[in-house]
Amino acid sequence: MEKIIEQIKEYKNILGNSVVIPAHHYQRPEVVALSDFAGDSYMLAVEAAKQTSDFILFCGVRFMAEGASVLASENQHVVIPELLAGCPMADMINESHARKAFEEISRVSKRIIAPVVYMNSYADVKSFCGEHDGAVCTSSNALKISSHFIAKGESLFFFPDYNLGINTADSLGLKENEVARIGRDLKVEDKESYDDVKMFLWDGFCHVHKVFTVGDVEAAREKYDNISIIVHPECNRDVVKSSDISGSTAQILNQIRDSKPGSVWGVGTDYNFIDRLAREYGPGTEHNKTIVPLRISPCVNMEKTTLQKLAFSLESIIEFREGRGELKSEIRVQQKYKDGARKALNSMIEIVENKR
Ligand code: SF4
Repeated sequence: MEKIIEQIKEYKNILGNSVVIPAHHYQRPEVVALSDFAGDSYMLAVEAAKQTSDFILFCGVRFMAEGASVLASENQHVVIPELLAGCPMADMINESHARKAFEEISRVSKRIIAPVVYMNSYADVKSFCGEHDGAVCTSSNALKISSHFIAKGESLFFFPDYNLGINTADSLGLKENEVARIGRDLKVEDKESYDDVKMFLWDGFCHVHKVFTVGDVEAAREKYDNISIIVHPECNRDVVKSSDISGSTAQILNQIRDSKPGSVWGVGTDYNFIDRLAREYGPGTEHNKTIVPLRISPCVNMEKTTLQKLAFSLESIIEFREGRGELKSEIRVQQKYKDGARKALNSMIEIVENKR
């Protein structure tokens, strides 16, 4: 481990400002420690867009690196340490499904439909959103993005995560008649009328978050006095309702970091992230907080990025720069999807920054 860490540091020194290494909060703690910055998917998208380095070595899953590639300039290269780091939720919808679902929703609803796609998706469906004047959202801004379109009198086709959609609908105070599910068989849930429906929700899910149960929350409350429960909004609706707070990874980090020393947290999200929080703020640190997972549920795709793969990617970048080899694991988005996906990502940033 020490040898490989030294090697990575040496490679980073050789590359200097020509490479930047962003890492998602769910990456292994040792990978985060060697990154240039870590964040949730919104922060990473915004920061990636600001980078001027020749190479962006993105420690995350493939859809995140794709997002960086869409926002990068033509002469920048986006590389991912593990090409097989996918996301089962992002695989639950493609452009063809999105078009057919949009047509079906437009058939049953008389309202204008704005497609809103969660960041956890590939460039083809982000592009579809851009084409139809929709936007990307992340778990930190789903409420703001959804409110933006609903305030204009439009209804949303929200995909792929049903849980983020229904939890956002709850935060917006929508009633049961204002929300409808659209299944992966492209059938819209039966309703007497679709006139009031403001959110049509695709039936996708994240298996890492779907495993948490109300029983996990109750067990944690029984075990620890004064425990606060914080969960990610990809968790089931009943779990979010039984928790004290729900929020994105950045919001979870901020809540725990800013809480009083000695406070007790039960957390419902990726295990590697909770492990890192416990190391940074747990017993034995000056913060002395108790941070426990509601259940151990790691994202195996995020775990695929190891120090060895990070070192291998840096080595490949050095060899490529010196004309000694090809650039391995570069992420390239098909040109036909770039403009639409960029438009949808920029719409998100503009709405969040109150520029629209
Ligand atoms: S945590 Fe879930 S949504 Fe996020 S990358 Fe892993 S599988 Fe995909």
